[in-house]
Amino acid sequence: MKQEYGLYIDGQEVNAQDGGVFDVLNPATGEVAFRVAEGREADVDRAVEVASQAFEDRRWRGLHPRERARVMIQAAQHLMKNIDDLATIETLSNGRPIREMRSQLRRVPEWLEYFAALIQAAEGHVTPFQGPYLNYVRRIPLGVVGQLTPWNHPLLIAMKKVAPALAAGNSIVVKPSELAPISVIELGRILTEAGVPSGVINVVPGFGPIAGKALAEHPGLAKLDLTGGTATGRIIAQAGGRNLVRVTCELGGKAPVIIFEDVNVGEAVAGAAFAAFIASGQTCVQGARILVQRTIYSEVAQRLVAKAASLRLGDPMDPRTQMGPLVSAMQLEKVMREIEKAEEEGSTILFGGRRSDDPSLARGHFLLPTVVGSVTPGMRIVQEELFGPVTVLMPFDTEEEAIKLANNSRYGLSAGVWTRDVKRAHRVAQALEAGVVWINDHHRIDPSLPWGGMKESGMGRENGWEALWEYTQSQSIVVNLDPVPFDWYATEEAVRYS
Ligand code: NAD
Repeated sequence: MKQEYGLYIDGQEVNAQDGGVFDVLNPATGEVAFRVAEGREADVDRAVEVASQAFEDRRWRGLHPRERARVMIQAAQHLMKNIDDLATIETLSNGRPIREMRSQLRRVPEWLEYFAALIQAAEGHVTPFQGPYLNYVRRIPLGVVGQLTPWNHPLLIAMKKVAPALAAGNSIVVKPSELAPISVIELGRILTEAGVPSGVINVVPGFGPIAGKALAEHPGLAKLDLTGGTATGRIIAQAGGRNLVRVTCELGGKAPVIIFEDVNVGEAVAGAAFAAFIASGQTCVQGARILVQRTIYSEVAQRLVAKAASLRLGDPMDPRTQMGPLVSAMQLEKVMREIEKAEEEGSTILFGGRRSDDPSLARGHFLLPTVVGSVTPGMRIVQEELFGPVTVLMPFDTEEEAIKLANNSRYGLSAGVWTRDVKRAHRVAQALEAGVVWINDHHRIDPSLPWGGMKESGMGRENGWEALWEYTQSQSIVVNLDPVPFDWYATEEAVRYS
């Protein structure tokens, strides 16, 4: 496996213009896993210029949609052949267990297949325009799009943006997370090898406030698409507003998981643990607030603690490992600080709340899965996104109270509802302020599932037709069918004007 990577511009890896590089550290050991060229403003300029050239000369958007689809399907197959290596790259970069990364990455090629299918089926339409006119509407690509992606699902999230953008015929510049950029550079190479013309997909690794800022503020873009924290979302939306470009943001979350008393408790607890602890809790849809009907609260608390205690922390490259480290020392410190504050505010740590004391894990950023009880709705630990393996337990008495507690958040990305009562399941799901609601499950995703947040969890949607439309714009063409010639200035009468 390669250890050193360049920027991916115009179909090849290149050095940064000033020769700068940075290290990607393995979160399990603190050792350098990869060294990467560091993109800065000049490199972003170059990538946007190359992408603009590719858009101008129509080398990709000029192909028939079916032709683009063929290349994308080829790329999906090529990607699948590289999945094991890519999973290893992800694990070495973000510390997520290899078991999780293999299972997630095996699904990533589906996004290419799905959007290849949509673009072949996409149609324009004809409006009921009044008079002797034909108004037909085409959907056309936007131009050069800038995509900023995070480290927790590096390849999956890049793919959620790249696949619809490519299908629609845009040119792309991606700025992947500085913590996990390698798999996205590999994606650039794989797409090029499968037949996407050089210059259509470009990847500029670098830091948020430097390369990210340069891309977000670049006047050559037609759209910005970010997945990241809500604070970054505000910065990107402002930059997009200044340049009057479209902005899509997939941001933070604090997902509630509501467990009603009629559930099979074992199943619901397994679901809550899955919701809370996968990726060491570092997902935007993490089950961070487990709301439990009071009659089963003690049983759920006890069983969730037992489940947390049973998780196998360890070397993320070991296929038996169920939980890896947090992504960085900084992230670990941040989460530990929030746990301390929660204790100061009067909550109780029911399990975890500290680093693993296994000496073999001392060099990594390992935190035990943590369950917190005795919380009140206003506490920071209930309101703020921690991005760690920490979940709070809260009791409720009635359905109304559960909905109120669940919606008491500035976030609105996702939620889970656990019940065997079909009417209640849908009633509650529909009352929740969340872009995605799972009933008796969590985390499930598909390229066809519209994905995005309400409130401060974002704007716009990924996946499905919506994502394809968000990467296109409409063009209305109006054709005069009237056999009678028209000269506005040759008559006094107020004839046709509109
Ligand atoms: P982040 O906001 O720190 O970074 C996201 C991307 O933006 C990175 O590429 C980063 O370099 C770039 N960036 C950061 N500051 C920037 C700036 N000032 N200007 C331009 N670019 C900048 O997020 P992260 O830590 O990588 O990821 C975690 C966050 O992402 C969490 O809040 C999580 O909830 C969110 N997330 C959301 C979804 C979703 O689908 N809604 C999915 C995954 C993660």
